[in-house]
Amino acid sequence: MIRVAVNGYNVIGRRVADAVTAQKDMELVGVAKTRPDYKAELALKKGYRVFAADEKGRKSFQAAGVACSGLSREMSSLADIVVDATPEEVGVANKEMYSDLGKSAIFQGGEEHDVAGLSFVAQCNYEKARGRKFVRVVSCNTTALCRVLNALDQAFEVERARVVIARRGADPDEYKKGPIDSVVLDPSTIPSHHGPDVNTVLPNFPVITMAMKIPTTHMHLHSLIVTVKDKGISDSRVLENLWRTPRLMFVDSGKQGFKSTANIVDYAREIGRPRSDIYESVIWEDSVKAIDNEIYLFMAVHQEAIVIPENIDAIRAMVGKEDKEQSMQMTDQSLGIRSSPK
Ligand code: NAD
Repeated sequence: MIRVAVNGYNVIGRRVADAVTAQKDMELVGVAKTRPDYKAELALKKGYRVFAADEKGRKSFQAAGVACSGLSREMSSLADIVVDATPEEVGVANKEMYSDLGKSAIFQGGEEHDVAGLSFVAQCNYEKARGRKFVRVVSCNTTALCRVLNALDQAFEVERARVVIARRGADPDEYKKGPIDSVVLDPSTIPSHHGPDVNTVLPNFPVITMAMKIPTTHMHLHSLIVTVKDKGISDSRVLENLWRTPRLMFVDSGKQGFKSTANIVDYAREIGRPRSDIYESVIWEDSVKAIDNEIYLFMAVHQEAIVIPENIDAIRAMVGKEDKEQSMQMTDQSLGIRSSPK
């Protein structure tokens, strides 16, 4: 059993902890939190050991009468690997602690590529993480783009990709963030950071991105225009290739009635996904269009969930024995992700 600790227990950390407990080859050592809030109480109810981020935190757990098993440093020392799911720039500050303890660690997309020197998306570069001490799982948008662009490149050789990203303004529990009634260019200059971030996984990939924030909390929406060298593409050839690509979900606005991201969230609730999580990049099948040598499509990304399978695969790649296919299959099965082909 691989012993896994989760440092930082909110949007990503809570999901990673649950996904770890769903793996046959992993054991959750505990989770570390700054505050003894309702999320700490729920973690204890699930049987997780809860640790405090620091001494001040431990005192607040004591004062609130919420059980605390020690500090995050002690938790990390009990693990084979730590998944750091703290906010951006906190992860890099924690790196020294993991190094001191001789522990492997996974950082998230809020950290810079340099924190680990390897930015990870399972289907693109699983084997490169083999035996590494530190790996960074890239952000939600980068993960979604890498899955699709890599697949299109392997099939049709991408000449250039242009992507416009409408980003959710905040996660559902972030009541202090916005926008509420505007579209915020994020940034107004071109490119946004997403294209360069794709290049941390797929070096030199010819992609340029533009981004804006919109008043929604549930999903991002990507509009892709991808020019390929293959002159013989057609809607059906592109679709057949995407259907064979792992970790994509397909919806249709016509006969199925998926008109918006709201329908996708509703669908995830109806099929009983925990927290209505969607781990797949969601592609509108009827948006997939080949015109000359350009491919067009719309894709939705559930920012809270898409990196969870990648974290689980990164754990196996770093400290486990399974190869890419074995690990992705185990992860997908445990989380209810469809296996390709469609
Ligand atoms: P979050 O703010 O929701 O959760 C982080 C938690 O860590 C908070 O509860 C915070 O109190 C706690 N924390 C702060 N300092 C800590 C410390 N020293 N030790 C332990 N806990 C500490 O953040 P998040 O959205 O889960 O994001 C975590 C990372 O994942 C970031 O790098 C982020 O960029 C990345 N990410 C976020 C999303 C998303 O949509 N939320 C998607 C993909 C990747």
